[in-house]
Amino acid sequence: MEIEIVKASDLPPPLLQESKVRYRLDGGEDPPSAPWRDADDLRWAVRHWAARLNVKSPQVQVRAMTTKWASITSRGRLTLNAELLGLPRGLGEYVVLHELTHLLVPNHGLVFKLYLDAYMPDWRDRQRELDLADYIQ
Ligand SMILES: [Zn+2]
Repeated sequence: MEIEIVKASDLPPPLLQESKVRYRLDGGEDPPSAPWRDADDLRWAVRHWAARLNVKSPQVQVRAMTTKWASITSRGRLTLNAELLGLPRGLGEYVVLHELTHLLVPNHGLVFKLYLDAYMPDWRDRQRELDLADYIQ
């Protein structure tokens, strides 16, 4: 059993995994430019954002995807492109926020953008970076 202490501004419940428990403590997050540690790190970010958005934490699958960064079903199954792990975490955080916001707003209309503005004011910059890296929907 490995215990990893990670700082963050929110305190959702710890993520219990096969081999590790991760707690995040108040007082500082990894900067958006930092790399992801591993796929569990990305899964943890999903729980973090689900807690912030007050939506049910989805089942998360990280796998190779050829045409999208991520997708989510209305029943709460989130698939994330494994290539995100190779990009700065700020871009993956945006993808996670984008997909989880679809649990609240299915389209990309004004209300959707208001949510993104509220939770991640620089989301347009991140979207642009992702567009340069590839695609999101
Ligand atoms: Zn979308």
